[in-house]
Parts: sequence; structure tokens; C-alpha cells
Amino acid sequence: MAFEDLLEDPVIQKYLHELVGPKGMPVAAAPPDGEVTDEELAEELGLELNDVRRALFILYENDLASYRRLRDEDSGWLTYLWTFEYDKIPEQLESEMERLLAALERRREYELENEFYLCEQCGIRFEFDEAMEFGFECPECGSSVDAMENTRLVDAMDERIEELSDELNVENTEIEA
Ligand SMILES: [Zn+2]
Repeated sequence: MAFEDLLEDPVIQKYLHELVGPKGMPVAAAPPDGEVTDEELAEELGLELNDVRRALFILYENDLASYRRLRDEDSGWLTYLWTFEYDKIPEQLESEMERLLAALERRREYELENEFYLCEQCGIRFEFDEAMEFGFECPECGSSVDAMENTRLVDAMDERIEELSDELNVENTEIEA
């Protein structure tokens, strides 16, 4: 996939945004072909050098950029030449989604296996055991806690799990349509 196509994908944009943050986004969203220095990027994009460097190192830490150092023989200064390696994005995104899916499935399980009680005053949720231990009174404010439905939460999770499974092309056996 070409860089341009990758970067038009909203999922990939979101992924990059989560990695580098809003300040780093101009750097992450405009990968040049071939090598580039941090100074060149800063000038080209009209950004602070520090913001450019920060974004580049985050990309580096996530295996999405690499660099090589050149020492100027006269001045002794080091120049970093950066290469963006976005061909790894789809693969990384997939393992990211797999992790998220597994976490969601565990959380869904937890929601289904437990009963919950809510203190409406404080907005605190308790598991059944906790609520019982406190005599069904909120330990913070003393109001009585009420049984709480989590159907909507579970429904929202089901939806997200299905979306992720679709994107990953895996069959999800736990959820019956
Ligand atoms: Zn309370």
C-alpha cells in the first residue's frame, strides 16, 4: 500500500494521532520519500524542532521510523537522517486490535459474571460482594446502593467486539447474533 493510501485511512490516522499526539501529527501525517533531517522537517512544516524530534522518536520507538547518524568532518556535528517505515503500520495495527479485542472479551466476561450496585450520589459502582460487605450502603456518603443494569454497557461492548472481529476477519464464537 502506498503511503498516501495508508494515510487516508481514518483508522491509521487515529492510530498515529494516539501515538504522537496533536503536535506530532503534522510530522506523522506527512512522511517524505527517502531520508530527511529533523531540521528539514521542522522548516518544511513550520514546526518547533523539539516537537519534530519528539514525534520522530515516538515513531522510532514504535518501529515506524529509523535513522542513521552522519558526523560532519569539519564541525563534528551529528546529523540524523530519518526514514519513515510505514509499511509496518497495517501489521502493527492488527496486533493492536487483537490486544484490544482480547481485553474487551475479558471485560465483557467480567461484566456478565458479576452483579453491580450503584451509589447514585457518588456515581461509584460496587460489585455484589463489596456492596454486601458495606451492608448495601455507600461507604463514601451512606446512601443506599441500588442494583445496576449493565446491559447497555455489554451491548456496546458486543458491538465493538463485532466491529473489531470484522476488521480482523475472525469469527467470534462467543457472541450469538
Ligand atoms: Zn455515595
